[in-house]
Amino acid sequence: FKNDHLHHFYVGEQERYEEERSKMSTRFNNKVALVTGAGSGIGRSTALLLAKQGAKVVVSDINLDAAEKVVAEIMAAGGHAVANKTDTSRPEEMKQAVDFAVESFGALHLAFNNAGILGEVNPIAELSIEGWRRVIDINLNAVFYGLHYQIPAMLKSGGGAIVNTASILGLVGTKNISGYVAAKHGVTGLTKTASLEYADQGIRINSVHPGYIQTPLIGEFEESELVKLHPVGRLGKPEEVAQVVAFLLSDEASFVTGSQYTVDGSYTSQ
Ligand code: NAD
Repeated sequence: FKNDHLHHFYVGEQERYEEERSKMSTRFNNKVALVTGAGSGIGRSTALLLAKQGAKVVVSDINLDAAEKVVAEIMAAGGHAVANKTDTSRPEEMKQAVDFAVESFGALHLAFNNAGILGEVNPIAELSIEGWRRVIDINLNAVFYGLHYQIPAMLKSGGGAIVNTASILGLVGTKNISGYVAAKHGVTGLTKTASLEYADQGIRINSVHPGYIQTPLIGEFEESELVKLHPVGRLGKPEEVAQVVAFLLSDEASFVTGSQYTVDGSYTSQ
């Protein structure tokens, strides 16, 4: 009797698992997504995951070769994607990326404003004016341009969801990358205001705040020093950020807007 009971329990679990799995592969069916900085790291992982879960994805990056490689990976797995060369710090290019999404797939429902750089590493007195301007342009101004052009396209598409990549450094400070910290705090504030402005028009807007994640971006830093900052005792993986972004972009997060989601192994709890 005991074994039989266990067998039935197992079969039920298996069915539930299969049901969950098929739900996941259709999670974003009929949705069009634009992902910036999608040629590498967090953006790449998110583009792959959204496509796997049914979205048609515009893989946007300043590096067209990198974007095309990600598109090829998506197509090889049976997904739908197109590559777009976009320097997000140039408003006309951001507009072009949004137009391209609508031309390619007929609408725009989801956006992940994620492209970013670490920028010049220097204390404030030595940080060049050019270095300051560049990181503010790419990490903050670009997110405004993204929202500015994506929101009207989403309103026309019947609503949508946006996630902006901030950072733990959009919530707390650190030394020697003041422009990065200021830009990411800016993204946090911009996301809050955007969520308020469009909450009653069917667009949810949240920010994601990764701890240190294993991507080329952290190349200049000593990994063991960064690991020490995370109570979990390791760095994060881009896929671990992608899972949270996909949740925030999905209908399962229907009451989540204006939130700051940390994905940081408890970094900011200390
Ligand atoms: P990454 O370097 O692996 O990828 C960034 C991508 O953005 C690259 O493909 C690059 O070509 C592209 N890019 C750079 N400038 C661009 C521009 N002007 N226009 C369009 N594309 C541009 O880095 P990542 O770690 O995946 O970073 C993605 C985002 O996550 C960034 O906003 C970064 O600040 C943020 N973030 C990263 C970490 C981390 O530890 N890696 C932590 C917190 C936040």
